[in-house]
Amino acid sequence: MRVCNLASGSSGNCTYIESENAKILIDNGKSLQYVCTALTELGVDPCQIDAILITHEHSDHIKGIEKFSRVYNTPIYAHVNINEILKNQIHTDESLFNFFDNQFEIKDLVITPFALPHDSKFCVGYRVSEQDAVISVCTDLGHFSENTFEIIKSSALVYLEANYDPEMLMAYPNYPPFLKRRINGPNGHLSNINCAKAIEKLVHAGTRMVVLSHISEHSNTTNLAVGTIANYLESKNIIPNVNIRLDIAHHEQRGTIFRINPTKK
Ligand SMILES: [Zn+2]
Ligand SMILES: [Zn+2]
Repeated sequence: MRVCNLASGSSGNCTYIESENAKILIDNGKSLQYVCTALTELGVDPCQIDAILITHEHSDHIKGIEKFSRVYNTPIYAHVNINEILKNQIHTDESLFNFFDNQFEIKDLVITPFALPHDSKFCVGYRVSEQDAVISVCTDLGHFSENTFEIIKSSALVYLEANYDPEMLMAYPNYPPFLKRRINGPNGHLSNINCAKAIEKLVHAGTRMVVLSHISEHSNTTNLAVGTIANYLESKNIIPNVNIRLDIAHHEQRGTIFRINPTKK
């Protein structure tokens, strides 16, 4: 598989995943021009995208889908629990919508959705595998549950949310108290320290690469996220760049291209 985050955070999310036969996007919260430019830089013609998978209905995850699917006739996949909301928000050919409530396949990719605790109508993460090569996308979650861990623990690479620093969140003057409580709550977003604890579990289960994702523009910084997480891991004898590679998903810039290949049996 070839995997690359195209954008991450409240101004828009989009991740590209490619197997031998399939090319998909997870979420599309960016403009048509932004996504097409990023795909072209990867050598991918946007008309080759087989599917856009939606995590949940918040605008930072879906606002680019209507235009993209209209221009390229791209099939859209989402959980059945948000079918009505999406049909109201994304005005495109209805035959492009595919609603799942369980595992499904797109060509040679096996997609396992899993429910995430988040303050939307319904939110999922995705475990994506091509044979024994496995990656997971796990953003927009208030806490990292045992169920989530069980599903994604075999992933070589995980895109995991490191949304906020609690002190910066509380000090940020432009959020009302109710919004801070929501972000900070069990169905909001994942803090740096809770991300670190999740990474600790994943490393013990064999994960070797984590991309810190959905980093808040107001209540976090890249340095703070990496510093907090690296300090915590080191205190548990997990050494960044030795036991785990930590990478960053940027707000408005293509991230690292990862290659995770199946061990052809
Ligand atoms: Zn989001
Ligand atoms: Zn959200």
